[in-house]
Amino acid sequence: MAKILVVGGSLGGLFAANILLRHGHDVTLLEKALGSLDGRGAGIVTHDALATALLAAGVPVDDTLGVPVSKRVTLGADGAILGEMDLPHVLTSWSRFYHMLKESFPSERYLQGKTVTSVKQDADTVYVSCEDGSQYEAELLIASDGIRSAVRAQVAPDIQPEYAGYIAWRGVCDEACLSKYTLDTLFNRFGFCLPNGEQMLGYPVAGSGNDTRPGKRRYNFVWYRPASEHDELVSLLTDDDGHYYPAGIPPLKVSWKHISKMRQKAQEILAPQYAEILEKTAAPFLQAIYDVRSEQIVFGRIALMGDAAFVGRPHVGMGVTKAGDEAMVIAKYIAQLGATPEALQAYGNERLLLGQQVVARAQYLGRYMQAQGSKGSPNSENLKRNADTVMAETAIDISDLLAQGKAVPESTH
Ligand SMILES: Cc1cc2nc3c(=O)[nH]c(=O)nc-3n(C[C@H](O)[C@H](O)[C@H](O)COP(=O)(O)OP(=O)(O)OC[C@H]3O[C@@H](n4cnc5c(N)ncnc54)[C@H](O)[C@@H]3O)c2cc1C
Repeated sequence: MAKILVVGGSLGGLFAANILLRHGHDVTLLEKALGSLDGRGAGIVTHDALATALLAAGVPVDDTLGVPVSKRVTLGADGAILGEMDLPHVLTSWSRFYHMLKESFPSERYLQGKTVTSVKQDADTVYVSCEDGSQYEAELLIASDGIRSAVRAQVAPDIQPEYAGYIAWRGVCDEACLSKYTLDTLFNRFGFCLPNGEQMLGYPVAGSGNDTRPGKRRYNFVWYRPASEHDELVSLLTDDDGHYYPAGIPPLKVSWKHISKMRQKAQEILAPQYAEILEKTAAPFLQAIYDVRSEQIVFGRIALMGDAAFVGRPHVGMGVTKAGDEAMVIAKYIAQLGATPEALQAYGNERLLLGQQVVARAQYLGRYMQAQGSKGSPNSENLKRNADTVMAETAIDISDLLAQGKAVPESTH
């Protein structure tokens, strides 16, 4: 049994902590935030690998995992169907995963209000200091502390998030308040709408209390919109009192003026079904889209995983699945090689290239999505072709492509 510290108590950290605990290790998790992290995320696309990681983490997987859909659809600006595709998926929510993973992990090992500020190591031990003055030691440290990882800042300060040039408006809208037209033509599908240079997508997720009954569900949306880094982005990340949040604006602080403008634009350029969803979403929020591409994810007795290691833009729908995979690989090599730097290095050898491929795949999908404005011609045949490609490539299971090193096609669109 090894003494292992996990930094970050979101989905990645909880995957690692649960799996390592079930392998018999003495695991302590350090999380910066106080209280529940619930309310942070929205929808999540599941893949088969995610179910495998959940089982490894001790979480039973059954029909209550999410809302199944069987079709994808692309809507034109007038609401008409531009294309359809059969593609079954189970869609769930960030908070559903968080609760399942959190409930599986002993609360006395999940320490909150622990902001890690410094990490050091010698041949046998990692030493961690937190902002509140507390200190911890372990044989290994697994850092899943997110896109602006404090651990990564110490071991690899050159790796920085790079802004992708666009933001995502996100939110969930109650099924019960939507019109029959939107329910009939969109709600039960993984839907898309493709204004020039932009992309809207959405899908149904469980409602309050993980209720998946018709009438009780919600529609989750993500609307990607370009925003210049030094002008529009700064304005979007500034609240109504003039406070600027460069690392991300809290959901409830997004300016009502931006929400109002966004809804107005939705009326002009999105399918009416999506415009209705945006109008009726109580608290839309926004996130800037970034890439994080690491050249190294293992540093002696310290390993980076999850968003601390790589962030692929959400078009791949892989953030949570990747974190679950990485946690399983870390645990596998610790089981084989003990709590040693060699075990972490074996993890790094197996996952570095895969992580880089996920980032490259996400950049490729993002470029394609943004290029439509300049490349796409307005004739319906071309729009239909674009719609088919977008539907076929967004948030699909790319495990086989990754295994073959083909996550980014040689030919571009
Ligand atoms: C606000 C938010 C919403 C998200 N919504 C979705 C979604 O809807 N769909 C989806 O697929 N993915 C979503 N993601 C991404 C998804 O959760 C991640 O890809 C996945 O959980 C793996 O990320 P992670 O756990 O490594 O990092 P994160 O989820 O970013 O979590 C990092 C954790 O580390 C903690 N932390 C940060 N710094 C320190 C420190 N110095 N000391 C201690 N703890 C620290 C943070 O408080 C946080 O809990 C979301 C992420 C966030 C942060």
